[in-house]
Amino acid sequence: MESFTCQGRVYLRIKWKIYVLEEVQKELLSFGESGMSLMEMSHRSKEYSKINNDAQKAVRELLHVPDNYKILFIQGGGTGAFAAVAMNLINRTGSADYAVTGTWSGKAAKEAAKYGKVNLVFPKADKPGSIPAESTWTLNPDAAYLYYCDNETVDGVEFPYIPNANGIPIVSDMSSSIMTKRVDITKFGCIIAGAQKNIGPAGVTVVIIREDLLGNPMKICPSVFDFTHINKENSVHNTPATFSVYVMEKVLQWIKKNGGVEAMEAQSSQKKTLLYDAILHSNNFYSCPIDEDVRSRINVPFRVGGPQGNEDLETKFLQEAEKLKMFQLKGHRSVGGMRASLYNAVTSDDVNLLVKFMNEFRKQYG
Ligand SMILES: *Cc1c(COP(=O)(O)O)cnc(C)c1O
Repeated sequence: MESFTCQGRVYLRIKWKIYVLEEVQKELLSFGESGMSLMEMSHRSKEYSKINNDAQKAVRELLHVPDNYKILFIQGGGTGAFAAVAMNLINRTGSADYAVTGTWSGKAAKEAAKYGKVNLVFPKADKPGSIPAESTWTLNPDAAYLYYCDNETVDGVEFPYIPNANGIPIVSDMSSSIMTKRVDITKFGCIIAGAQKNIGPAGVTVVIIREDLLGNPMKICPSVFDFTHINKENSVHNTPATFSVYVMEKVLQWIKKNGGVEAMEAQSSQKKTLLYDAILHSNNFYSCPIDEDVRSRINVPFRVGGPQGNEDLETKFLQEAEKLKMFQLKGHRSVGGMRASLYNAVTSDDVNLLVKFMNEFRKQYG
């Protein structure tokens, strides 16, 4: 293994490297027999049309998306989709329910409040790292939708269930958990997911939306965010991030070849068990501040040197890890400590290496 990373964007260098990056490299100067790079091609070309359709098909197959759901590719990242969701869906009643469990759902709620009334279904948690019991939520029966973030990437909190919204459409941000576990799509009105964590490079956001929720965007909704319009134009209403969709399509094929979402889920469960066990059996040298029942399988925040963390030891930890080519283990600046991100491209072997390093580090400094 040439490199091992536990966070974010360099993940493509590990496992996908063979299947995805080498394929991309081979095709970079000439896509197929064309003599042209895909980058040089029109988004109306037959080559890109095939990629666009194949990518949609792969998302549909991998997640078992029923026919009455549409799959769209938009730009603007997850953050753009926060606004798009509200502009496309809030119009029906003018208000929406938001479950704010961390950074990203907080940002989504703030964005939506520009376009309608936002009701927080529980007050901001006094203790971060938890999700209040569903029985305590105050749902608005007139909400156009209930929004939640399936996996809070920064905070390390993941929903262990799909909330019950009493028939109101559920919208979920799955940017950091898509394709890491099976999901019953029929439970959702709309799913948004930036590709860059688990299924491709930055630049494309996948939207899965139930057909009957189309057709009611706000007047002010820009056409590039208008799901109804984008659907009508098969996600080529204007120039999409063609290269990003192209690489994403290859990653999706890689997931298929490697056993699909079912296999990713099994691997995810193995990886998180390895890491949380190492934390648990460290005599409090490592600690995870998240409630056990909502700990993320994907983003694992932990402190080094005791429950409050010892910043000197944490700096040392990062330095030593980098010497072993384990990069980006530093936690988000808003949370501190460490964060290991176990996206799909990170293997169980990679996590074993991390755990081995953690045990050695503890022996030396604990
Ligand atoms: C990374 C992330 C986002 C934001 O993505 P951008 O593309 O940077 O806007 C949104 N939601 C979640 C859960 C994320 O992990």
